[in-house]
Amino acid sequence: MLSAIREIGYKISTPGNTTNRQEADNSQNIILFISLFISLKIPYENIETADGCELDYDDCNLPNNINITCNTLKNETFTDTDKTNLESKNFEIEMEDYNVQKKELYLQDIINTKGNQSSPFAQLTEADKTFDKKIKAWFSSQYTTNKQKSKQQNNYFISIGLLLNKYGRMIKDKINEKNSTINKKNKKIFLSVKINNKYLGEFKIIRDRAEELLKKKFEASSSNDKEVCAVCGEFAASVSGKTNVYRFYTIDKPGFITSGFREKEAWRNFPVCSDCVSYLGKGKEYLELNLRFNFCGIYYYLIPQLVIDKNNIMPEIYDILLDSPKLINLKKKEKRNITGNNDDILDILKDGKNYLTLNFLFLEKNKSAEKILLLIEDVFPSRIKKIFEAKDYVDFIFKRYQQVQNEDAYQASYEYSYNFGELRKFYLKSDNKKRNNNDLDKYFLDIVNSVFKNTRIDFLFIMKFFINNIRENFINETENERYFNKFNKSVTSALMNILFFEKLDLLDRSVLSEENMNNNNCDDERDGFFNGFFERYGNTFESYKKRGIFLVGTLTQLLLDVQYEQRNKSRPFMKKLRGLKMDYSYIKALLPDVQNKLDEYGILDEYGYKGLVRQILSDASLYLLKGESADKNISADEANFYFACGMNLYKNIKTYYFQQKLDNKET
Ligand SMILES: [Zn+2]
Repeated sequence: MLSAIREIGYKISTPGNTTNRQEADNSQNIILFISLFISLKIPYENIETADGCELDYDDCNLPNNINITCNTLKNETFTDTDKTNLESKNFEIEMEDYNVQKKELYLQDIINTKGNQSSPFAQLTEADKTFDKKIKAWFSSQYTTNKQKSKQQNNYFISIGLLLNKYGRMIKDKINEKNSTINKKNKKIFLSVKINNKYLGEFKIIRDRAEELLKKKFEASSSNDKEVCAVCGEFAASVSGKTNVYRFYTIDKPGFITSGFREKEAWRNFPVCSDCVSYLGKGKEYLELNLRFNFCGIYYYLIPQLVIDKNNIMPEIYDILLDSPKLINLKKKEKRNITGNNDDILDILKDGKNYLTLNFLFLEKNKSAEKILLLIEDVFPSRIKKIFEAKDYVDFIFKRYQQVQNEDAYQASYEYSYNFGELRKFYLKSDNKKRNNNDLDKYFLDIVNSVFKNTRIDFLFIMKFFINNIRENFINETENERYFNKFNKSVTSALMNILFFEKLDLLDRSVLSEENMNNNNCDDERDGFFNGFFERYGNTFESYKKRGIFLVGTLTQLLLDVQYEQRNKSRPFMKKLRGLKMDYSYIKALLPDVQNKLDEYGILDEYGYKGLVRQILSDASLYLLKGESADKNISADEANFYFACGMNLYKNIKTYYFQQKLDNKET
């Protein structure tokens, strides 16, 4: 993750990267490639001298057709057409803009010390010198130092060396020619080799050798007092173990080391070279000013990271993210949000290809220290897309089935646009009466982490928080208010969350009731009049017991409404609900109670209600009966939750009932 921040600092402070393209074009570093074309026609074994000793290139005549017989190169596939084309020419000098993303393909030496190089890639000083000493010499030294290596490998390097030697004079002249056309202001010119239009790093045999040499060099230099920078991996004369660039890397309690945060990156063992200190500082500053967002009241840095792929596609969005004016425009764009914040640009990032990943660094800032609350690493845009799809699904269900039919002050004004705010409200304070800070951040962020990283969420754990909040609102509702707005809002949010998690398949099924495993759920059409209603909510109400409890809740709400009308705004039946701390058998026993009360109020015979009430009564009894044998025990938290859902969705059940009756009449 630090390397991603360094990269950002590097990009915004290095000309040629983002922010100012015009300036960039004038100051881009350049590589001159000696592009060789090698034919593979004739097997060639006798290139090695008879005794297998050092080979003097100047004494060795190049055969008419350089051939390379080693297996490695055979695997690099060429078509016959390629071969014919390649034979017609031998070399070219190609000019190419330096692209830091291709560093690995160039095999650029990452240890900047003088002396031997690990690869034939060097800064061009004088064409003659650089070519002879850095390029040609590299290939020839691979032979001399590796006599014991396989003949094939040696032949391979020799062949290239021979080719370079044969055309040496011409190559040098052409390099000079090209070099003279370049405006060198603020630029570095490098020299390297390409073979058959490929970078050296694309050939396993060369890559392996370069890595081998680099390793040796690494070992050799680590014996002196230079240290390796933990961020960029380069040797540097001065590295600092105590950089305060990242104050939040000051980890004073092990508990703060959260997922994906490697311990070795702790500052104590964290030497950073001066370049990196500077780039990290710039990167951090940029994040601070441009990529700091609010996630339901908790700050986080959005840290984009490029995924280096073979094609080296630099996604445009990365450029935009590192260009503050463009980024400001992006933030202003019309878009949906999932974090409860209008600045949220995830809706746009979700459409990016997986060439970049996103890191989310959640921080808590105190006066002097920054504490990492959570680090979510390597989230691909495709995951963000899935999250938005789940949001759309939840929005669809609630917009379609809820908004139109609820005239409640709250329900009508509610937008039904799901975001993490619906979850956040359940995870603020463990005790609302206390004036303590939000102490449930950690739980909230754990769930956020599960959503982004696609890991399981403990259903009963979240249910506990949902029902506690629902209970609290239920108890605090003023009895003579027409609608239980807070209570209903709370139930709706909980239900939205469950649907959201269900859609993302995050709920830990192993803790859910047994009927899921037995596949004993209520799919059957004959399983009741309200089957179609329950199916709207996916798996949420998939067991008999849940549906039975739900319908008892529905009927209870109906009764409370009747009492409110007939008993001058009071609802004596409320007391029976025990502040939603009922257990399953108590709820079951509530059904005949509700029925009796409705009978007392004459509802069972009242035209208009009669059919609805009887249908709910009969379905509720059926579900409870079936659930008795088919379903596992249901926890009190769950039972009260489904009861509350039934109360909350009473109007929806009513609408569904009359709609079905109407449809049945028409057909
Ligand atoms: Zn460094």
